[in-house]
Amino acid sequence: MARASNPGARELTLFEVGPAPKPRAALYAEVALNRPVDTQFTYSVPAELAARVVPGVRVAVPFGAEREVGVVTALARECELARVREIAALLDDEPMVSAELLALTRWIGRRYACSWGEALHAVLPAALKRERETAKVVVASIAPGIGATELAELEEAQPKQHRMLRTLIDIGGRIELRDLCRQLNLSDSAARTLHKRGWIRLEKVEADADELETSRTARPRPERLHESQVAALERLREPLERGTGGAFLLHGVTGSGKTEVYLALIERALELGRGAIVLVPEIALTPQTVGWFRARFENVAVLHSRMTDAQRLRMWKRVQRGEARVVVGARSALFAPMDKLGVIVVDEEHEPSFKQGSTPRYHARDVAIERARSANAVCVLGSATPSLESWSAARAGALVRLSMPKRISGHGAPPVEIVDVRSEPTGAQGHKLFSRRLLLLLAETLERGEQAILFQNRRGFAPVLWCPGCKETVRCRRCDVALAWHQRISRLVCHSCCDEVPAPKSCPTCTRPGLRFIGAGSERIELEIAKVAPTARIRRMDSDTMRRREDYEETLGAFGRGEIDVLVGTQMIAKGLDFPRVTLVGIISADSALHLPDFRAAERTFQLISQVAGRAGRGELPGRIVVQTMSPQHPAIRLAAAHDYDGFALHEAELRAELAYPPHGRLVRLLWEDASEKLVVDSSVAVGDALREKLLDSAAVVLGPAPAPIAIARDRHRRHLLVKIPLDDAQMQLVLDAVRSSADAAPKLRAVIDVDPVSLF
Ligand code: ADP
Ligand code: ZN
Repeated sequence: MARASNPGARELTLFEVGPAPKPRAALYAEVALNRPVDTQFTYSVPAELAARVVPGVRVAVPFGAEREVGVVTALARECELARVREIAALLDDEPMVSAELLALTRWIGRRYACSWGEALHAVLPAALKRERETAKVVVASIAPGIGATELAELEEAQPKQHRMLRTLIDIGGRIELRDLCRQLNLSDSAARTLHKRGWIRLEKVEADADELETSRTARPRPERLHESQVAALERLREPLERGTGGAFLLHGVTGSGKTEVYLALIERALELGRGAIVLVPEIALTPQTVGWFRARFENVAVLHSRMTDAQRLRMWKRVQRGEARVVVGARSALFAPMDKLGVIVVDEEHEPSFKQGSTPRYHARDVAIERARSANAVCVLGSATPSLESWSAARAGALVRLSMPKRISGHGAPPVEIVDVRSEPTGAQGHKLFSRRLLLLLAETLERGEQAILFQNRRGFAPVLWCPGCKETVRCRRCDVALAWHQRISRLVCHSCCDEVPAPKSCPTCTRPGLRFIGAGSERIELEIAKVAPTARIRRMDSDTMRRREDYEETLGAFGRGEIDVLVGTQMIAKGLDFPRVTLVGIISADSALHLPDFRAAERTFQLISQVAGRAGRGELPGRIVVQTMSPQHPAIRLAAAHDYDGFALHEAELRAELAYPPHGRLVRLLWEDASEKLVVDSSVAVGDALREKLLDSAAVVLGPAPAPIAIARDRHRRHLLVKIPLDDAQMQLVLDAVRSSADAAPKLRAVIDVDPVSLF
């Protein structure tokens, strides 16, 4: 432990002159603080607190001129520092962080190259990172009588306020201000100004109980489990009952009954006095999913990112007190303070959203395996399309693979038809959005009173506005991306920074008129489908129409009750939905993710097609899937249509091996971002050179630095560097040590360190 750097103490010597130092307290605490330095800080424990300060309690400590909340990680009787400052306050009577979570966060720090304090910070509910708890949240709503006039006034001069006011008018109800600001990528100053003018309301309210806390979807317990379910369950129960734990990959096609296996396994864990944590992607955390667990078990705690701090804290404490023995939640639920953990399920384990997007950039799948290992629990990674990482871990024997290759319904995998849109007749605008085959099947589906899902993984009306004269696209002023046209709000929107502008009348590059919309987003699909199916009841589900959780739940409820015939949406509708009357799924453009500059583009495309296809034919009625594409021969599309996961995995693994990309090796990415291009270049080059030298004798390869695929975002220049490392823990540790020491040595700009990145943008 590097005790030499202890700013807590150093600051003190600056102003504490005069009176003789007090006699030393006999007890010192190591405190982890949310700082990017790889050390704990030493503080002395006041005598009156000595009996109560133990590892895992939170304390408030002076740090420089401020006061911070930290977690005590260890105690010592001696201290070699000349001066130490004293703990200012003890915040808990009992340790808030268990020995298990202390060990786990320490592991996260090592694995993901961040400090222990940063890892702890990620694990604790926000309310526990402050000295005082707040139960209130600010909700915003539009003031009565405010509308078009006010909008018009803001239109030109105040684009941010315009965006906020327009969205509030759209929503029509209340929304938590923090949530709104996050979605619009705005600070709350726009809200404050609008509030001062009396145009919007801001109210402080007690956090409501979360709706997911009460949802209960009856899911009849199957009379008996199917053979494949029994077989999987037996393999999973054995290490649970023996108390040895283990890590499994449950590879089951959509509708094969994985959820029932989880439920039965958890039932067994509870009988044995053990608890369970179930992680699902945020987007699949619907009342439907949560309800299944709640209907089967008493006292399920739900944790998700849209809860208020107070709700989250309440859940955390319920788990800590042992009142809830099953936790269902998104990524962060993995850190629920569950005692005697028996089972961890990571459903849809291939989902990129299990990777945290800010420091510490942990992957919940990997942390789940580690937490299960240390608790002797059974970890189940479930998916219809496992990540190549898990697939190859299973081949190497690190995970035990269990297969459930058949659907419960007995229909077998629904037939997938590939339609080559290049061979469709063209209209005035070029290729039509809907193939003849899709339109025919849609008409038949509606005729029979069944439901359809149309998937297009892009928002807005058209993703690109293009000039036929100079062949340029209209781009964001602040980001290196094309602007998307959103028809309903009549604006071009940057999907990177949320900035909006009215459509230019002529090309901003060459000033010629006649800009053209290229491509189609979900908004356009919705509008066009209404033209071809005028009597159908259509609803769109994407982040433009689903601002609030209530919107999402209302739409899914209406769809479930049969009040909607066609659901159009982005990846929001790709997972978790289980509606037996959906018999047609149309994937409008399967290629949209295929050509992205990311080595996982093919894998994502394969997963997306398989997931979306899995929404059809889940009940008694057979389903059909139409995949429209311009690359019908691409393996990701061809093999997804053939339901050939293994074929795809083998093919893809071979390509990755040639390039030494995961799962063949591992990656560490460093990213620099700053308004000053020079700073970004200098820092990245300095670190790149240092790293190359340090890793000269290792098997790791340094690529770059080079501009990131999105080279500028919000006026900040972005450069990155990749290190490719063979699958070898010793090499990995060497690289991480080198990365950390070089990153610290960089001139001024600190790099973001991303171990095992899932996105390279
Ligand atoms: P997955 O999670 O693999 O997509 P689910 O567990 O949701 O699959 O099961 C798919 C459907 O089959 C659900 O509607 C579920 O109620 C039903 N089901 C699951 N297991 C059985 C069973 N043993 N007997 C009858 N129906 C079942
Ligand atoms: Zn932008």
